[in-house]
Amino acid sequence: MQARADQLRRSGKTTAFVPTMGYLHEGHLSLLRIGKQKADDLVLSIFVNPTQFGPNEDLSSYPRSLQDDLDKAEKEGVDAVFVPTDQALYQEGYQTYVQLEKLPQHLCGLSRPVFFRGVTTVVTQLFNIVKPHVAIFGEKDFQQLAIIRQMVRDLKFAIEIVGAPIVREADGLAMSSRNAYLKEYMRPAALSLSQVLQNSRKMVQDGIVDAQLITDRALDIFSAFPEIKVDYISICDPESLDPVESVEGRTLMALAVALEKIRLIDNTILQP
Ligand code: AMP
Repeated sequence: MQARADQLRRSGKTTAFVPTMGYLHEGHLSLLRIGKQKADDLVLSIFVNPTQFGPNEDLSSYPRSLQDDLDKAEKEGVDAVFVPTDQALYQEGYQTYVQLEKLPQHLCGLSRPVFFRGVTTVVTQLFNIVKPHVAIFGEKDFQQLAIIRQMVRDLKFAIEIVGAPIVREADGLAMSSRNAYLKEYMRPAALSLSQVLQNSRKMVQDGIVDAQLITDRALDIFSAFPEIKVDYISICDPESLDPVESVEGRTLMALAVALEKIRLIDNTILQP
């Protein structure tokens, strides 16, 4: 992969890169389509990164479908798919981790303490292997995108980071590989996340900007689904992720819940 990248760079070609954990859905494909427009060459990586899973998380059951993913990648005009083994990235004796100080101390980082350190470590490795000019990440994982942007600034990666809007199912559910775990009867509960976000946007449009009021209403909606355990409801600054008391300018509302142990996240921008 590194030799390939060097060769392309020598011939003056640019590379766009989309890192994923596979089990591709329309959300991933939207990133590939953006990448296709942004550079001469398009690289997809598929790697279920063990260092970003906690000991009680779903590493072993994470959905995988390599052949299907390769077919989809080919249809999107991907030029190369990088599928490393665990040993290729974390060889015997591996001991280097990339970690941010502040941004991971919010939202998902609080309940998933090793998650972002795993993400920033693997993305650093992938950037050094694929050597892209531009990399595309989804706003579905808003905190991850903020962390990657910060890391790229701090470590002076010469890579443009592009954020891509959340792709949803027709009923509003944000697409996610983990949706494969959802049983049909869980659908109404799963839909409550996008409903909460839609309702919150409406509240702000109607002039209700108090973060506590918006949060209380969200808790109300979730309380109709006893199988949902709320991890967090955060109304915060979209750059620092620090909580705000009222929605004045562009504000992030981010949610994470467990639905029978299935972790679901979603977010929206609130704008008065
Ligand atoms: P994952 O395979 O879940 O690690 O996701 C790989 C990339 O796809 C990340 O940048 C995600 O933010 C992005 N992604 C996942 N789901 C969606 C979605 N529904 N809409 C847009 N981007 C997404």
